[in-house]
Amino acid sequence: MLPLFVCPGRKIRRPVEAMPGVFQLSVDELVKDAERAFDLSVPAVLLFGIPAKKDFHASGAYAPDGIVQKAVRALKKEIPNLLLITDVCLCEYMEHGHCGIVEPGKKTGRVLNDPTLKLLAQTAASHAEAGADIVAPSDMMDGRVRALRERLDREGFADLPIMSYAAKFASAYYGPFREAAESAPKFGDRRSYQMDPANATEALREVALDIQEGADIVMVKPAVACLDIIHRVKTEFGYPTATYSVSAEYSMIKAAAAKGWIDERAVTLESLLAMRRAGADVLITYAATEVARWLKV
Ligand SMILES: [Zn+2]
Repeated sequence: MLPLFVCPGRKIRRPVEAMPGVFQLSVDELVKDAERAFDLSVPAVLLFGIPAKKDFHASGAYAPDGIVQKAVRALKKEIPNLLLITDVCLCEYMEHGHCGIVEPGKKTGRVLNDPTLKLLAQTAASHAEAGADIVAPSDMMDGRVRALRERLDREGFADLPIMSYAAKFASAYYGPFREAAESAPKFGDRRSYQMDPANATEALREVALDIQEGADIVMVKPAVACLDIIHRVKTEFGYPTATYSVSAEYSMIKAAAAKGWIDERAVTLESLLAMRRAGADVLITYAATEVARWLKV
């Protein structure tokens, strides 16, 4: 599965400096990259939106003509057999960059869990309405899988699967992504809702909860630093398990390869193999198109 970043405009292909080969793409360019990936047998893309403007209600996240909604419609029209997964979160759309509604008047970064759920559910429903095949909540609020499931069922999308970011650690490996998605929090950090990397038991509890709430695929993130968690999730739950090989995993390989210090292809393939060996069924990687090309030859 290939993550892609979509932004407003036309003919825009803005490189993400810390992630060589990754771009913020306007819808027309996004279609080209998705087509190239699909032609090489990458079956799915994961879409992140960069809205024209941010506010304190993340209104761009659930606007019927929001950037992700537009991208989904265009991709469905041009590449009907490409599986479209949409990231459901509010951070890219929030003025302050947090994944939920922040306690008014405070600069602590304390996110209000329950009021956030409604906005997330509304976002998921609007992605479904636009034609998404799977929605992927990445916010890590408690109870969000249930909130999304109920809303989707109510709006006639009972068959639409949810891929939950079930075990998402507060990881330093997300650094380059925040440049790509323009989603760095302006104050505080995400430790009140993402998980402590030292706590494996909590990760398993989170996965169990998401499954109970109706998740169809559970995700572990990051990947290489969490192979033990992937393995435990797969063996303990036997559930469709995805893992997200995050931005720094990609950037580190790219940077070392650019210096001539490692064999990019071999290290990339070995990393992905390790994720599969640990038990992941679905691999999400920025290298998806390159890997598909390597594997084809
Ligand atoms: Zn977020």
